[in-house]
Amino acid sequence: MPKFRIVVDVGHTPDSYGALSARNDPEFGFNFRLARLITAKLRSEGFAATRLLVTDGKARPSLFKRVGVANEGRADLLLSVHHDSVPDKLLETWEFDGAKSYFSDRFSGHSLFVSQQNPHFATSLMLARMIGKQLKEQGLHYASQYTLPVMGRYRRQLLDKDVGVYRYDGLVVLSRTRSAAVLLEAGSIINRDEEMEMNSPERHEAVAGAVAAAMRAFCERR
Ligand SMILES: [Zn+2]
Repeated sequence: MPKFRIVVDVGHTPDSYGALSARNDPEFGFNFRLARLITAKLRSEGFAATRLLVTDGKARPSLFKRVGVANEGRADLLLSVHHDSVPDKLLETWEFDGAKSYFSDRFSGHSLFVSQQNPHFATSLMLARMIGKQLKEQGLHYASQYTLPVMGRYRRQLLDKDVGVYRYDGLVVLSRTRSAAVLLEAGSIINRDEEMEMNSPERHEAVAGAVAAAMRAFCERR
């Protein structure tokens, strides 16, 4: 465990902050807070080689910077932390804090993505499954909408229907990284209730605890 090198990647950058929540908070902040907690949890449980990766700059170059850091540091796993939204056509409007804002309460839950183009696809899938299993044991449910036609170009193949692992080949951080790589959408911040949950210590602890338990199980199996 002390030698298992996990890079916990904060999705997006301060300049290119990803999705906007139902209450107009940028996704980058959610990713940063949760990824920092996951990193602290892993370190406290014996994964001393875990590092938090924060990237700046524009969206596309930042993807290659992340891959470069993971590859140069000879990581065993790149875990990219994100928070989910919905395709624009599903957005509804409401007023929050006096401003016209967007939300969709239709979907909720976390999801996990791996790329078949990753050189360690089998290991990536195993790790994603183990994280999904732990999240399920925490009483959390996965986002099942990615198989639906309504998702359009965001539609994905479901590789594990029990714990919510999807295939997403095109993602740079998953396909170009030489180590195993998993992307976690920790929950939907465009869903008004789940946005609040994603800010709660209980949900933070559930997700960080699930990741740590999965990593422990993986190392014990090896
Ligand atoms: Zn994102």
